[in-house]
This record gives sequence, C-alpha cells and structure tokens, in this order.
Amino acid sequence: MKRSMASFADAVEQTLSNAARDGQPFSAACIAQHDRREQCPEAACQLLNEFGLAAYYVPVGHGGKLESFSELVQLLRAVARRDLTTAVAHGKTFLGAACVWVAADPTQAQWLAQEIVAGSIVSWGLTERHHGSDLLASEFTASKHPHGWLVNGEKWPINNATRGQVLCALAQTDPAGGPRGFSLLLMDKRELVPGSYRCLPKEATHGIRGADISGIAYHDAVVPHGALVGTVGEGLEVVLKALQMTRTVCAALSLGAADHAFELALRFASERQMYGRRLLDLPLVRRTLGEAAATLLVAETVSEVASRCITTLPGEMSVVSAVTKAFVPSVIDELIASLGDLLGARAFLTGVFEHGMYQKIERDHRIVAIFDGSTVVNRNSVINQFGSLSRLYDGQTCDREGLAVALDARAPLPPFAPGRLRLVSNTGCSVLQALPQAVVELGQIQGARRPTARALRMADAVQEAASTLIQECCAYRPSSRDVPPEAFDLARRYELCFAGAACIGYWVANHRHVREEEGSTALWDDALWLESALVRIVHQLTPTAPQLETDMESYDLLIDRILVDGPRRVSALIPHDE
Ligand SMILES: Cc1cc2nc3c(=O)[nH]c(=O)nc-3n(C[C@H](O)[C@H](O)[C@H](O)COP(=O)(O)OP(=O)(O)OC[C@H]3O[C@@H](n4cnc5c(N)ncnc54)[C@H](O)[C@@H]3O)c2cc1C
Repeated sequence: MKRSMASFADAVEQTLSNAARDGQPFSAACIAQHDRREQCPEAACQLLNEFGLAAYYVPVGHGGKLESFSELVQLLRAVARRDLTTAVAHGKTFLGAACVWVAADPTQAQWLAQEIVAGSIVSWGLTERHHGSDLLASEFTASKHPHGWLVNGEKWPINNATRGQVLCALAQTDPAGGPRGFSLLLMDKRELVPGSYRCLPKEATHGIRGADISGIAYHDAVVPHGALVGTVGEGLEVVLKALQMTRTVCAALSLGAADHAFELALRFASERQMYGRRLLDLPLVRRTLGEAAATLLVAETVSEVASRCITTLPGEMSVVSAVTKAFVPSVIDELIASLGDLLGARAFLTGVFEHGMYQKIERDHRIVAIFDGSTVVNRNSVINQFGSLSRLYDGQTCDREGLAVALDARAPLPPFAPGRLRLVSNTGCSVLQALPQAVVELGQIQGARRPTARALRMADAVQEAASTLIQECCAYRPSSRDVPPEAFDLARRYELCFAGAACIGYWVANHRHVREEEGSTALWDDALWLESALVRIVHQLTPTAPQLETDMESYDLLIDRILVDGPRRVSALIPHDE
C-alpha cells in the first residue's frame, strides 16, 4: 500500500494541532508555564509516546519504523514547531540510541528497540565537567570485572540523565587512552546496585528551561558484559559515526524553530496596525519576511538532501553531516534574530503575544548550535578534509548513482546500512562536486519552469565562488593544533557553496515531479524559490557583489507568492510516495 509522506505529515500535524488547543499540552499557555516553572513537559512527551513517535527512532531492521531519515527530520520538525523543549526532551532518545544502531549487534539492538518502543528514555553521555568537545580527554572509566565492567566517573551536563532509564556512555577502557582507548557502555539504571550511581541536580538553563539537563555519577558500578556497545576500543569510532546521523537529524530542531518564528512574525505583521495600515504592508517588513523565507528554504533543502544522503551516500556523511550541523543552526539563529526585530517589544516580553513564545524560541534555539558538536567543531571537521575535498572537486569525481537518489525526492531510498558510514570520505562530497554539471543542466531547462536570467546568474555566481573557494582550500596547509581563523571562514563558505549546490541539484532533479493538483506546491510553479534561495546564498558569499541590492527584489516576489492564498508555511519539500 502506498503511503504519501504528505498525508502522513498531515496526520502528525493534525495530532499536534489538536494538542495545541487551550488547556492541551502543546498550547502556548501550557508550554510557557512549563518553561517558567522549569518543569519537563511530561504531558506533551506522553502524547508523543501515545502517537508512537519513539518507534521512528528505531530502524525498521530492528523492528521500528525508521525507514527514512528525511521522514524523521520532518516528524521532529513538526514537534519543534510547537515546542523546541519537548522536541529536545523526546528526540534525545534517538541520539542516545544512535551508537547501538551503528554497532548493530542484533541482540543488543533488539533489546534497546523494545525498550524505546515501550517508552524508555535513552540518554547519551559524552561530555564531562572538564571535557566537552575534546572526547579523547574523557576521564570516565570502565575496567574489566568478573561480572562485566566496573564503572567510575561522572557525565555532565546530560540531557535526560535523571528522567532516563538507559544511558549510552563513552568510557576510557585503556588507561593509556588514545583513539582506541575508549569503549561504549549501554547502562540500564534499573539493573544497577542502589548507591552505585547518583543523578546530579538539574541545571538551570537559559533556554529549554523545562528540559532535564542534569548529569550522572557512578561509583564502582558493575554493569554486565553485554553492556559493551561494539568492541573494546571501538568507542570513539562508533561515536563519530553515530554523530554523522545525529548531527544531520538535529537540523529538524532548527527547522521547527524557524517555522515557529516565521509563523509568529507573519501573524504579528499581519495583525499589527501602524500609520493607518498593516505592518506587513511596509516594504522593509515584506523584504525581511521574504529574506527569512529564502533562508528557511535553503536550510530546509540542505537538511532534506543531507538526511537522504545518510542512506544514499553514507560514505560521505563525515562531510555532509558536519556541513549541515554547522550551517543550519547558525543561519536559523540569524533568521530568528532578524524576524525578532519585526516584533519589537513582543520579542522580548515574556507574558504577551502567544505567552511570550518568541523570546522562548530565541532562547531555546541557542542550544542547537552548541550540542552534538558546536559550529566550530563541525567546521574543524570539514577543515581536516580540505585536502581531499579540493582534489576530488577538481577531478569532478562524483558518486552519480548515490547522488541521483539523494536529490530525487521520489526515488525510493536504499535501506539504512550503518556499516557503510566512514570516518573520512573517500569520495569527497558529491553534492558539491556535481555543481558544475547541475548548473549546466539548470541552463538547459525550457518551458514554464525555465529558470529566470537572475536564477541562472546566481547559479553561475555560486559555481564561481565554489571554484575560488576550492583553490583556497587546496592552498591550505593542514595544521592539527593551530588551525588559523581564516580556515574557519573557508569552512563557512564551503557550507554556503554546498547549500547552493543542494538547492540547484534538488530543483533540477524534482522540477518535473510537481503536478498541478498538488496545491501546496505553488512554490514550484516556476523557479522563484530557487532564485531567492540562490540570491540569499550569493548575498552571504559575496556581500559586496554588484546588483545584489536589485537582486534582493527576489525576496519581495517570494513573500508575495507565499502570501498569495493567505499565510502559509514556508516549504518547498516535494511530497513523495513510499
Ligand atoms: C542544554 C545542554 C544539553 C546537553 N546535553 C548533552 C548530552 O545529552 N550529552 C552530552 O554528552 N553532552 C551534552 N551537552 C554538552 C554539550 O555537548 C557540550 O556543551 C558541547 O559539546 C561543548 O562542550 P563544552 O561546553 O565543554 O565546551 P568546550 O568543548 O570546552 O569548548 C569551549 C569552546 O571552544 C570551542 N572549540 C572547541 N573545539 C575548537 C577548535 N578545534 N577550535 C576552536 N574552538 C573550538 C567550542 O566551540 C566552544 O566555544 C549538553 C549541553 C547543554 C548546554
């Protein structure tokens, strides 16, 4: 039986919309109250459990419903659009379980799958009080014991460390440390001898105030042999591969926050009367909304293509996930700040306009660029691959088959194969390496959807920026300790070129799919959304380029198109049949 993603997403939307009514767990009043009281939104999490969301954290191969990472991103995005705190509190179980899906021991995975589907909360313990990004410095230890492993040390700050039943933690198993000196343990609190562990107090936080951000300390805790995830010494490798999935899925949190911010800003601008007309009728306001819509479309396309890459180009995820995690949360932080300006005092007051929801979104979203590897950490990871990325771009190397499926929203996805994830990509980044070809194909499109001259000029500008960038990446001399600040700017430009390539590639691959009857796809009537997305990217790549002032008219056309049938969500995702 065919199940359309659009109708499935509609069902989720319906459930969440019902739950957003007055007095219900996702109503603004209820969400704001939990935030003020710093209480976990348990009722909202329970509703997601009843809906069966947790089954989407478990790959189908282990009995769950996770078939498509793109679908998981859209599900978490729908939750984050209502309340980012709930999305973080509930979605963390996917992050906590990711290492087990990578290590793929059938018995262990089966057990965890059953726990998750039954509602158990899984947390992920990487960070320690004195060691965050530097995982090799971890001091949490596990040593061999006749009954398994003897565990000592503290993990902090950890999401759901107190609420959760199961923790997957990185522990030093070789006193000498080093890349093979760490292993992963899946520890079930319910099985531990009382007194051998204690949960640390909840930390007060700037955003996601209701989330359980606490920690856990173990003192001579004995966990069974079966707690080991993967093999001894494999911990770091498994973590780095799991992060390739989780960093990509984290984009859902940013997309949902951006949807929510856009919705509130648009509502405010439509209702607010100033100087005898609506705020929305002021040209600068329309421009700001149009620019935000373009940003959202770019972020959405990057997230969609990247999440499809998990199964279509798994060997390239070391690049794709780092680019996505560095790019999406940072541009959405900027989007939230710029739309916040439109709301004036209402972006700052905590008790008015949707119960002060805007300032909550702004505070909540700050965390997305910090956890699961900060923006800088992800840029550093791309910098480490500059050598091969520039070589492979020049050689026009590309995994054409994998890329075609990644870009074509209607192409069935191959099954999740964690064994194909790689620490470093041998084939570079096909999305960007295919840019020159995609620009040629874009120029050949005729008919109603023929790209405007501006869209083609923008595509050329992205390609030119990518060529210059690649020359600079090629000239970069790697330095593992003292990475120069300029290299981080190169990585930022790499993200923008990747975003441009993803938008062009996605548009070229899908422009023929959209049928007239798919009303939600007015954005696909022509190449306007692509044009605006590319203007946004070129604007950031080359802020002083000539004509950019006039090119920004594209944002005005975009917001007019979005508003043509009344306010609507900003999305150019192609509904696909499964
Ligand atoms: C709300 C919340 C929830 C969290 N949940 C979890 C969880 O569930 N599990 C978990 O394990 N951890 C969790 N963390 C921890 C989080 O992942 C860490 O805060 C993060 O990894 C950064 O570590 P740190 O804060 O110790 O900063 P550090 O690693 O000490 O970094 C300090 C600064 O240095 C920068 N930096 C790092 N590397 C480089 C580099 N190579 N070059 C230049 N600058 C660099 C960083 O970006 C940062 O700005 C959570 C944190 C918060 C705030």
